[in-house]
Amino acid sequence: MNDSQVRTRFAPSPTGYLHVGGARTALFNWLFARKHGGSFVLRVEDTDEARNTEEARQAIFEGMQWLGLDWDEGPQADGSSSGDYGPYFQSQRHAVYDQWFEQLRADNRVYEDKGAWRFRFARKPVIMRDLICGEVTIDYTNESNTPDMVIRRSDGSYVFHFVNVVDDMEMKISHVLRGEDHLMNTPKHLQLFEAFGVEAPQYGHIPLILNKDGSKMSKRDTGAAVGGYGKEGYLPEAVFNFLALLGWSPKDESEVMPVSEIIERFSLEGVNRSPAKFDVEKCEWINQQHLMQLSAGEFAAAAAPYVQQAGIDLPENFTAIAASVQEKVRRLAEVPPAIAFFLELEFDRETLDKVRSQEVAKDLLEKLADALTLIDDWSQAKETIGATAKAHGAKPGQLMFPTRVALSGQAGGPDLGAILEILGKEESIRRIRHTVSVL
Ligand code: GLU
Repeated sequence: MNDSQVRTRFAPSPTGYLHVGGARTALFNWLFARKHGGSFVLRVEDTDEARNTEEARQAIFEGMQWLGLDWDEGPQADGSSSGDYGPYFQSQRHAVYDQWFEQLRADNRVYEDKGAWRFRFARKPVIMRDLICGEVTIDYTNESNTPDMVIRRSDGSYVFHFVNVVDDMEMKISHVLRGEDHLMNTPKHLQLFEAFGVEAPQYGHIPLILNKDGSKMSKRDTGAAVGGYGKEGYLPEAVFNFLALLGWSPKDESEVMPVSEIIERFSLEGVNRSPAKFDVEKCEWINQQHLMQLSAGEFAAAAAPYVQQAGIDLPENFTAIAASVQEKVRRLAEVPPAIAFFLELEFDRETLDKVRSQEVAKDLLEKLADALTLIDDWSQAKETIGATAKAHGAKPGQLMFPTRVALSGQAGGPDLGAILEILGKEESIRRIRHTVSVL
């Protein structure tokens, strides 16, 4: 097949949110189309009116837009040839389905049964050559094992198998990548294609996603809804990266990759046959790697909304403040608590008690405040800590920890040099003296 003829699609049924499994399916189809310079189509399978709401549709669009999964075509909302195009909606395509149904009727491939319409299977073995799962044969010879299937209900509505196939034909889909839960639907779909006299697309069924403990992932599991990732401070490109690795890996097992590299390296040969394991900690790790690759300015810009959301006004030196925690956080939502101490000193009780229990700490801190007052070049501040400890017969470590606590109120955090630099001379000395007074 010529690359430019590659046409894939994502065909979600709107359920109210975009599930990680659905997003991963969308992503594989998008990657395959982009890799081969083909087209990617979004088709909303919304024939089940009771379950479909505008909100449910919106959740799909938002999730895809956030991940950067753009679709290439669709009917023009206003009939014009330019401007935004929406995706295809099955709910608007009833006339198309009627036409193809008539063809089956004319060919005597359907018959009425208690008001519904059944499709007459060809009574023979059907072989499917799945791009991922290999060859599977289903034998339709015996009617009692494989009864003819209903394709149109008595209320006139069409069932999933029928509309799915009609649309894949109409939209000239070349490759269908979908979840393994659809594997056993495929022979039915092949039967329909044959009845229509149209060549079927190539199918590839991608492995299921399981929780870390091996159980099947459900709606309620942490991380199941794509919509939640942005709020928690994941970068879209990191979630993209994480989803791509759910069932696919490049030859050399690289993990942290930008979108462009994933497009270049994606191939169906790299899709595993065994189920993928969903691991939120891995997602956090990948996110951290992507965060570390941002410049200080980009990181600050990405973190700013989370800080404001937490009710913190952005200080003037926010870029420096954010940069000091850039390598510490795994998610952007961790930035506000990590930087809060710069704006207001609040002691962690246990940590303060630990300093209290070190007899020399109070005295050393007092000496440090005095020594810091005397230095002109503030970039010498960190060295002054070690020098002060030594001058008073202590080891540097005996003063480092108390100083960290005095400046930040906590035991961990950014590099001490960065803290001193950001707080500046006056505020650093003020905090150390204040700590001395509460010890
Ligand atoms: N609407 C079906 C689903 O969401 C689509 C299956 C397919 O991709 O063919 O599972």
